[in-house]
Amino acid sequence: MSHVFPRHCHATLPTAVGGEGCYLIDQDGKRYFDGSGGAAVSCLGHSNPRVTEAIKAQADRLAFAHTGFFTSEPAEALADLLVANAPGDLDRVYFVSGGSEAVEAAIKLARQYHVERGEPERRHLIARRQSYHGNTLGALSAGGNALRRAQFAPILVEMSHIAPCYEYAERAADETPEAYGQRVANELEAEILRLGPNSVMAFIAEPVVGATLGAVPAVPGYFKRVREICDQYGVLLILDEVMCGMGRTGTLFAHEAEGISPDIVCIAKGLGAGYQPIGAMLCTDAIYRTLADGSGLFQHGHTYLGHPMATAAGLAVVQELLERDLVSQVKARGEYLAKALAARFGDHPHVGDLRGRGLFRGVEIVADRDTKRPFDPAFGVAGKIKKAAFAEGLICYPMPGTRDGKHGDHILLAPPFIATEAELDQLVAMLGRAVEAIP
Ligand code: PLP
Repeated sequence: MSHVFPRHCHATLPTAVGGEGCYLIDQDGKRYFDGSGGAAVSCLGHSNPRVTEAIKAQADRLAFAHTGFFTSEPAEALADLLVANAPGDLDRVYFVSGGSEAVEAAIKLARQYHVERGEPERRHLIARRQSYHGNTLGALSAGGNALRRAQFAPILVEMSHIAPCYEYAERAADETPEAYGQRVANELEAEILRLGPNSVMAFIAEPVVGATLGAVPAVPGYFKRVREICDQYGVLLILDEVMCGMGRTGTLFAHEAEGISPDIVCIAKGLGAGYQPIGAMLCTDAIYRTLADGSGLFQHGHTYLGHPMATAAGLAVVQELLERDLVSQVKARGEYLAKALAARFGDHPHVGDLRGRGLFRGVEIVADRDTKRPFDPAFGVAGKIKKAAFAEGLICYPMPGTRDGKHGDHILLAPPFIATEAELDQLVAMLGRAVEAIP
């Protein structure tokens, strides 16, 4: 009997024993194409020699030095590299161990920033429905995933949730995409006014929504309007790029496509590419200065902040992305994958929508394509597709729709940036066979 407490108590899982390029290998030698990078993690694929060598070299030199006493060379170098390549005035990097921690740090930084500016009444965070920001209590409070929140609701912090920007499901037939984007962005203003403009500290959103909607970018103009509203009311804009950042959507930071500058950005997954647990929160110098010139202390910290081996891995990952120009490759391969998906599923009766940006793609599964009617949530269609795909040797990321039956299930694809066109063809073929297996 295994003594590991697994995610799914009744699943019998194969043992992963190796990774090679885009493939994971189990104890029987079966190979699985990593079509979702786990959950958009493995952007460089598996066994990248530069990253593994960097980790080994760092382990030999220095494994750990507490950030209460020391900084470290890899943390300094990675922060420099991120800032040099970040758009706008994101100037400071706070290293953590993953996405949830990055979001927790962002929420607390937003609060402390306002307190130190002399506006302690700013305490509300506004987020969006059908979003996911992590599983720790603060991040879960911000998230709008009803399923994941349900049983913890009584112990979550109260936060506001406005509509996501989800054109396929929610744009009215007589509305242009631009008008729809303005309408849902204006919900932010309405909520700020409802709460009291001087009581709101920040708004948080994913530039391209990952796990809860399946690679959904906002319509053009949405984020520009959001930025305007935040500026008007002194509300900080936090962008959660934990899933969509680090090149995944064809720009190093996902929000580059929106032409706006956030105040705080959270990254994780692709930053460590699965080689080490690492995340980061980037903020503007103005925010940092408020604390530096104020109390001088961010009231937040974890033992493993800026861990030398994690930052050494992150440094090697970002160097790989930049030096091999993998972000441009994401754009090209992303277009290739989009075309291949459209060719295979464009008129499939159970595929309602194909969307995404770069190598971050979503396939929305519906019972009726014309009416967009989802499958009954109890049927668990995404889980069935995941199972069939896994049997084929394809890893893809399924998400159930909302329990109220209004929004359907989807499959998220986030293959490694190094995937060849032939491998992407193979991915689409395997997914096609899995979708055909829907009973
Ligand atoms: N934010 C987003 C957008 C995510 O997709 C995730 C994880 O899927 C998180 C935060 C939480 O990250 P982690 O699982 O590393 O804590």
